[in-house]
Amino acid sequence: MLSIFWRLLIPVLLLVLSLYSVFEIGRIQPQYQPLLTYLPYPLLLLAMLLAQQFNRLRVFAAAGLFMLAFITVQLGLQQPLSEPRPFFLYTALSLLLPLNVMLLALMPERGIWSRYGFVLLLCLLAQALGLSVWPEALLQQPFPYRYLFDSHPAQGYLLSYAANLLFALALLITAGLLVLRKGETEAALVVCLVAVYLTLQLFSVAYISAILFSCCALCLMYCLFRNSHDMAFRDDLTGLRNRRAFNEKLRSLAGHYVIATMDIDHFKKFNDRYGHEVGDDVLRLVAAQIGKVAGGGVAYRYGGEEFCVVFTGRQSADACTVFLEQVRVAVASYGISLRNQASRPPSQKQGQSQRGAAVKAKTVSVTISVGVAERGVELRKAEQVLKASDQALYKAKKQGRNCLVLA
Ligand code: GH3
Ligand code: MG
Ligand code: MG
Repeated sequence: MLSIFWRLLIPVLLLVLSLYSVFEIGRIQPQYQPLLTYLPYPLLLLAMLLAQQFNRLRVFAAAGLFMLAFITVQLGLQQPLSEPRPFFLYTALSLLLPLNVMLLALMPERGIWSRYGFVLLLCLLAQALGLSVWPEALLQQPFPYRYLFDSHPAQGYLLSYAANLLFALALLITAGLLVLRKGETEAALVVCLVAVYLTLQLFSVAYISAILFSCCALCLMYCLFRNSHDMAFRDDLTGLRNRRAFNEKLRSLAGHYVIATMDIDHFKKFNDRYGHEVGDDVLRLVAAQIGKVAGGGVAYRYGGEEFCVVFTGRQSADACTVFLEQVRVAVASYGISLRNQASRPPSQKQGQSQRGAAVKAKTVSVTISVGVAERGVELRKAEQVLKASDQALYKAKKQGRNCLVLA
């Protein structure tokens, strides 16, 4: 839950600041105010360019979608909504925007130059074409449940019931996906949905669309920035902080701290026996256990099958060993079910003799050895503490593995 909070914090602040600025526009000299209507174009274009650099289709498409929506607002929605054409465009935008954002949230991230990218492009172009050629008179005709699509359905509300319902559904689904996947893109899309909703709901406020679509562009750019930060400081396989992050941490360590070094036992043999792919799965599982270390320890993948945990604060090494022991026991007692492919018998003959017998998933486990050292009178530098913990790890290996040694 905390990670979701951090992902949402800056986009929500951006939205609050944008809303505040909408009501403070009067402070800008009147002759400069119209310049604001040009703001979303460079910002959304920049978001698209950055998304293209990072190969993030969903962000690229979201920025493109908001660009098309803003162009529609500028070209077709500057007249009263009581006119047939603006009413048609407003209704279409209020239904299509939540639908598209929901679609983007549901999609997996597959890169811009993929089949998904092509289909999305066609989808957006078809909608743009549809908006420009669709006879708006159709919406004026009586049809069943037409009242659902009326604007001003209730006192003080502009958006139709159908649009409100779609926005609520899109928000529910996108927020649900954010909780499930904890992704940056989902966080940006949640805030963008709220921004688009407010734009349409407060449509008569001057410059609201210019400012809130700019806010959407900033949210999307922020999500790309967070993505690139993760690329630099997170390990792709395990999701833990990586060696670069660990080196940064070492440089900034001060006061009292404890460093633990961990290494999976006989992992080379494990790989040789079950294959590299299963080895990778096991690395992920072990990393997940290490990542759960209590007592404020922060886990890093140091490299290969080696991990480090850093405890900052006043805790002694003895206190930290309790938390590290919990991790060691958790890893050792974690039964890993092998996928069928890995447990497949090596020879056809063996396979034939096994066939017919009940197929039972084979479970295996791995162990880790741990070395711990703390900063003290003799070990004053972080590099010295790290070296001492590494030597303690070496001792743990010598003592028979699956154990913890304190330097
Ligand atoms: P020890 O108990 O002494 O640590 O034995 P070990 O076999 O674990 O030690 P060693 O350091 O010699 O071997 C490390 C092995 O870890 C080598 C490599 O096969 C495996 N390994 C390192 N990184 C990865 C990875 O990213 N994925 C997989 N599947 N295996 C890895
Ligand atoms: Mg090793
Ligand atoms: Mg090892």
